[in-house]
Amino acid sequence: MTTQNPAVRVRFAPSPTGYLHIGGARTALYNYLYAKAVGGTFVLRIEDTDLERSKAEYEALQIEDLKWLGIHHNEGPDKPNPKYAPYRQSERGEIYTKYAQQLIEKNLAYYDFCTDEELEEMKKRSELEGGDPRYDGKWKNPEFNAEAKKRVAAGEKCAIRFRAPDKAYTLNDKVKGEVTYPEGMVGDFVIVRSNGLPVYNYCCVVDDMLMEITHVIRGEDHLNNTVRQLMIYEALSAKPPQFAHVSLLIGHDRQKLSKRHGATSVNLYKNEHYLPEALCNYLTLLGWSHPKETDIFDKEELFDIFDIERFSAHSAMYDLEKLKWVNGQHIKKLATPDLLKLVEELPETEFLKKQTPAWKTAAVESAKPYVHFLNEIPVFINNTFLKESFEMTDALKEILGWETTPKIVDYIHGEISKVTTEYITEVELNGWMDHVKKELAIKGKPLFQGVRATLTGQDHGPELKLIIPLTPVNVLKKRVSELKK
Ligand code: GLU
Repeated sequence: MTTQNPAVRVRFAPSPTGYLHIGGARTALYNYLYAKAVGGTFVLRIEDTDLERSKAEYEALQIEDLKWLGIHHNEGPDKPNPKYAPYRQSERGEIYTKYAQQLIEKNLAYYDFCTDEELEEMKKRSELEGGDPRYDGKWKNPEFNAEAKKRVAAGEKCAIRFRAPDKAYTLNDKVKGEVTYPEGMVGDFVIVRSNGLPVYNYCCVVDDMLMEITHVIRGEDHLNNTVRQLMIYEALSAKPPQFAHVSLLIGHDRQKLSKRHGATSVNLYKNEHYLPEALCNYLTLLGWSHPKETDIFDKEELFDIFDIERFSAHSAMYDLEKLKWVNGQHIKKLATPDLLKLVEELPETEFLKKQTPAWKTAAVESAKPYVHFLNEIPVFINNTFLKESFEMTDALKEILGWETTPKIVDYIHGEISKVTTEYITEVELNGWMDHVKKELAIKGKPLFQGVRATLTGQDHGPELKLIIPLTPVNVLKKRVSELKK
C-alpha cells in the first residue's frame, strides 16, 4: 500500500482552448491516481489567461470528458474550497497584481516600457551575437525605477518583467532525476504583459503556491518552463513543489503525438464507444508500470498501489492496436448484464429490445471473445443469430465443396422442415450431430464444419451448442434452404 499522506495536493491545470487531449487526460489521470493512493486532494484549475483562445464551452467539454473517464476532482471551479478559490485564472487577476507589486517593491521585477520595435531590435542584436534573445533595455537598470513608477502612476501601460538571477538552477525531478539549468540560460522575462494579462509561468507559480500544491505531475514538455518557475518560487520565498515530468507520448514514427497518428482528443474515443475504463487503463500504461507487471486493470485497483516512483523516463509510444486490445480485454472483463446495458444504449439496437432478457444476455455473452469494440457486439449478434442471408466466402465455398457436406445439408433440411417450435434445443442439435456421425458416418472436421456451415452460413464462430439454440428456427430454415438450392 502506498504511504498515506493527506497533506498531498496535486492539480490538473488545463487551458480551455480545445478538447481534452489524450496527453492531458493521462496527466489528469496520474494526478488523480496519486491523490487517491496517498489520500490527498486532486484540484482542477482552469488556466484561461489566454482570453482570445480560451472558451467557456471548452472548459465544460473538458470537464465532461474527465467525468466520462471517471477522473473526479475534489476541488475546482464547480467544487470550490473557500480557502483556495477561485479556480479559474481569469478570476484571479487581483492576486497576480498583488504579487507582481511585491516583486517590484523588492526590485525582483521591474516595469518595462520598451516598444515592440525596441524589443525586436534587441532580439536581432542577440541573434547577431550568437546568443538567445536577451533583454538589455534601459528599464533593467534600477536607476530608472523612480521614473518608471511615475509613468505607471500617470496611467501609462507597460509590461512587468522578472529579473532572472544569473545563476544555475538544479531540479530534482521524480522522473527525470537531477536536471541542471546552466547560469544565464534565460534572460529577464515578462510576467505581466502591457495589456495587464499575466503569463503562464508566473500565474502557475502563484497559484501552485497559494493552493498549497505539493506535487506537480505534468508532461515533459514543461521541463523548460520549470527553470523560470523555480526562479519565481525563489523570489516569492516559497518552497517549490516536488516535480514529476512524465515522458512524452510519441507516434509510431517516434515523433511527438499529433493528429497524424490518429485521434488525439478524448471525445473522439467517447464517440467511437470506447470503454472509458479501457482508455484509462491504456493511458496509465503509457509512462507508468504496474508493480505486478499486469496490463489489464481498473483504476480502482490502483488506488492502493499507485506511486510516482514507477514512472518511466522513456517516451511512450501511442499504439492504437494495443489500445484496441486493451478495449477488447475490458469488454471480456465486464459483467455480462453491465455489458448488455451499454450495448442497449448504442444506436441501432432496436432489434435487441424485442428479445427476452435471457436471450440478450446469452447473445452478448457469446460475442465477448470475438469483439474489441462495443459497437461490434450488435453487429455480431445480428450476423450470428438473426441474419437469414450470409456471404458466400471462399472458406464457406470450400466446406460446401467437400463431398460430405451436401449429405449434411440434405439431412438437416429434412429435419428442420419438421420443427414447429420457435427454437431448437441443445438436445435436438446433439441428436442431429449423432445422426450425421453414426448414420452418415461423417466425423471430425467434416462433421463439425459441415453442420456449422449448414446452420450458420459461416466457417467459424462460437460453439454451435451455444448459438444454435438462440437462433430462431425460421432463420435456420432460410439459411439451410439457401444452401439446398
Ligand atoms: N495550462 C498548462 C497546460 O495546459 C498547464 C501546465 C502545468 O501543468 O503546469 O499545459
